[in-house]
Amino acid sequence: MQTIETEVLIIGAGPTGLALAITLQQAGIRHLVVDKLATGQNTSRAAVIHAHTLEVLDSIGVSQTLADAGLKLVNFAYRDRSRALLSLRFDAIPSRFPYLLMLPQDVTERILAARLVSLGGSIARGETALKIDPAEESVTVTTSSASGGRTIRARYVVGADGMHSLVRDTAGIGFEGATYPETFVLADVQMEWPFGNTEVSLFFSPEGMVVVSPLPGGTYRVVATLDNAPEKPQLEDIQRLISRRGPRSGAAKITGLTWSSRFRLHHRLASSYRNGRLFIVGDAAHVHSPAGGQGMNCGLVDACVLGQLLAEVLHDKRPETALDLYGQLRRPAAAKVLSLAGRLTWMATLKGEGSRFVRNSVFTAANQLSPVKGKMQMDLSGLSRQDLSVLPQ
Ligand SMILES: Cc1cc2nc3c(=O)[nH]c(=O)nc-3n(C[C@H](O)[C@H](O)[C@H](O)COP(=O)(O)OP(=O)(O)OC[C@H]3O[C@@H](n4cnc5c(N)ncnc54)[C@H](O)[C@@H]3O)c2cc1C
Repeated sequence: MQTIETEVLIIGAGPTGLALAITLQQAGIRHLVVDKLATGQNTSRAAVIHAHTLEVLDSIGVSQTLADAGLKLVNFAYRDRSRALLSLRFDAIPSRFPYLLMLPQDVTERILAARLVSLGGSIARGETALKIDPAEESVTVTTSSASGGRTIRARYVVGADGMHSLVRDTAGIGFEGATYPETFVLADVQMEWPFGNTEVSLFFSPEGMVVVSPLPGGTYRVVATLDNAPEKPQLEDIQRLISRRGPRSGAAKITGLTWSSRFRLHHRLASSYRNGRLFIVGDAAHVHSPAGGQGMNCGLVDACVLGQLLAEVLHDKRPETALDLYGQLRRPAAAKVLSLAGRLTWMATLKGEGSRFVRNSVFTAANQLSPVKGKMQMDLSGLSRQDLSVLPQ
C-alpha cells in the first residue's frame, strides 16, 4: 500500500474543510484534503452567510466572489402571521459587509473549491478515511478509494468530517447534547410572496415556526418545524405550512418546488476541539437548529482560525502549545451560537396561548428599543463574537 507524508491531513471537503485547505494553501503549508464523496454535494442547505463570516473569509480571498454571486438583504423581520413584531436592519451594522448574503451552500462550496484550485490546491475525492492511528510524532490514516487504499502520515489531522465525525470518535471527544423532538422541513420554492425578495421573515405561529428567505434567481428558502414531516415534502405540504403559519388571507402562493428535504436536528457541542494531533472543525464540533442560519458560518470561521494557527506553528512563528488557542476561542463561540439558535427555536415553537402572548408583547416592545435591536443584529451577524476569531499577538 502506498504511503505518503504531509503536514496536515483534512478529512472532509465540505465548506469547513475547503476553507481550511485554502488557508493552508495560501500560507504554503503542505496538506491533503480527502472526501469520501466522488463529487461535491449539490443541495442548497445553508442559505445565508453573515457579515462576520464574510469579514473572516476575506482573508482567504473569497468574500467578494461570494458577495457577487449572492443576494444581499438588509431586512429581517419576526412576524406573527402578517403582523411584524420586530424588524431588524443590517445596513447600518459596523461591517464592510452590511447585509445578509443569501447564497445556496452548493454555490458557496463551488466558489471555495474553485479558489483552492486557483491557488494550486486540490481535493482527493472518492477517498474515505477508514482508520486513524495517532502516535506521538505523527498520525497515520488509512484510506480507501476506487484506485485502492493508501496510508497517509501527517503531523496533524483535522476532522472536517461532519456530524458523524470519525476524527472526533477516534480522539475520544464527547459530543454532548440532545435531539430536537420535531423534524424540520426545508424547501426551495418559487412563489408569489407578499413581502417581495428583500426580507428574511421568521414567522411565529401556534403550529410552529416557519422561516422564508429569498434566494438568488427568484426562489425562496422555506424552513419549518413539523411533527412527523413526510420524507420528501411536496409542493402541497409546503403550501399548507405557509398558509397556516405565514401571512394571512392566502397571500402566498407556491408555484414550483426546486428541492425539498426533511431532517432531524440535534444540538450538540464537542467537549473539546483537540486531542493531541487531532482537531475537529465545523459540524464535527457543533450542530444546532438552523434558526438564525449560524451553523455553516461558525464552521467557516473555525476553519480560518485553525488554519492560521496551524500555519504559524508549522512556520515556527508560535510554539506548538499555541494550538490550544483554537479550542479556547472557538468552543465558546460555538456555545454562544448554540444558545442563540436554541433561544430562537424555543421562542418560535412556543405553543401555549399565554406564553405566545407574552413573547409577542416582548418582541413588540423590543421593536421600540434600539439597544436591544442593535444587540440582536450583532448576534445574528456574528459581529458580537468577533473577539473569538482573533488570535492574540
Ligand atoms: C438539510 C440541511 C439544512 C441546513 N440548513 C442550514 C442553514 O440554513 N444555515 C446554516 O448555517 N447551516 C445549515 N445547515 C448546516 C450546514 O449544512 C452545515 O453546518 C455545514 O454543511 C457544515 O459543514 P462541514 O464542512 O463542517 O460538514 P459537512 O458539510 O457535513 O461536510 C463533511 C464532509 O466530510 C466528508 N466525510 C465524512 N466522513 C468522511 C470520511 N471518513 N472520509 C472522507 N470524507 C468524509 C463528507 O462526505 C462531507 O463532504 C443545514 C444542514 C442540512 C443537512
